[in-house]
Amino acid sequence: MLTSAAVKQQALTLGFEVCGVAPATALPELQFLPDWLARGYAGDMIYLHKSAHARADIRNFLPSARSVIVAGAIYNTDQGSGIGDQGAGTVQIARYARGQDYHLVLAERLERLVAWMRGQHAGAFDAAIFVDKHHVQERVYAQHAGVGWIGKNSCVIHPALGSFMFLCGVAVSLPLEVDAPVTDQCGACTLCIDSCPTGAIVDAHVLDATKCISYLTIEIDGAIPDAQRPHLDNHAYGCDICQEVCPFNLAPVLTADPAWQAPPRDGTSAGELWQRSDGELHEFVKGSAMTHLSLSGLRRNLAIVIGNSGDAALAPVLDRPGGGIKNAAHSAHTPVVEEAVSWAKRRLGA
Ligand code: SF4
Ligand code: SF4
Repeated sequence: MLTSAAVKQQALTLGFEVCGVAPATALPELQFLPDWLARGYAGDMIYLHKSAHARADIRNFLPSARSVIVAGAIYNTDQGSGIGDQGAGTVQIARYARGQDYHLVLAERLERLVAWMRGQHAGAFDAAIFVDKHHVQERVYAQHAGVGWIGKNSCVIHPALGSFMFLCGVAVSLPLEVDAPVTDQCGACTLCIDSCPTGAIVDAHVLDATKCISYLTIEIDGAIPDAQRPHLDNHAYGCDICQEVCPFNLAPVLTADPAWQAPPRDGTSAGELWQRSDGELHEFVKGSAMTHLSLSGLRRNLAIVIGNSGDAALAPVLDRPGGGIKNAAHSAHTPVVEEAVSWAKRRLGA
């Protein structure tokens, strides 16, 4: 007979650091999504509105689901805090995006977990994997699977492993033994709320995504609002500040998992990246989750990082996307990028 303990042990064997099982029910925390959406906090992430019904109960994702296996994989490597903060004009890239594209890596591991389960279980059963892009509120199920609690910064925090952790899982029709939920350990701490440069954490556990640097640098295709641009500082892709200040990440667990080791992208000069051709920029992001952002979106962010550098010597660089070689940087010639360049030049006093 396939036990919960055996499934969790196999998940660890396949490269996950933590695994738990939650009941496949409409858990109380799932009810917050409609109100959060109604407040406009999802911004342009229309897919969240469209998938709200599916997200209300995992049985809308897999009707026969009786259990939810949630797995966590630590992505934090020794390319730790501040690598991208080596001086004005170097880019910071969120830690989760520094390795291979987690969607692909984690989906493959989950498929192997399901295949192993089918080999262990005599009867047929339904299973559906979810990795971020699927219509599952994985954080809620993670809390009820004992993987961690949802912190005031909205990240799932494991008491010993911290929050630099991918979450994913499998909904199954098997009635596996469930784990106890993790209780909230944030207490009176407000470090994440106090440290957010854009005021995006509007209340404990409530993120206004439209103000969050992750949303601004990754989720929107158009112009980043003027008022928010200085707050981006040198964040070219995502932001880790509210996790870096968290006491549960003070001595973050590092992973040696080859999937998350990568050639250093974080800490590269924004001016040097700007002068690369589109082909070279494509090579820079190739294989990582950064490929989910268009090259124009990346150039928009680079222009803002350069504008925030305070280094007036970088202003002429903005006239040389692709090293100034004709047709080398088509992605720089969009209205959004050209406007960001104008903004950056003005900010640098050019
Ligand atoms: S990721 Fe950055 S901008 Fe977003 S809530 Fe956290 S600290 Fe604020
Ligand atoms: S910084 Fe403090 S309040 Fe924020 S998630 Fe961490 S423990 Fe909770």
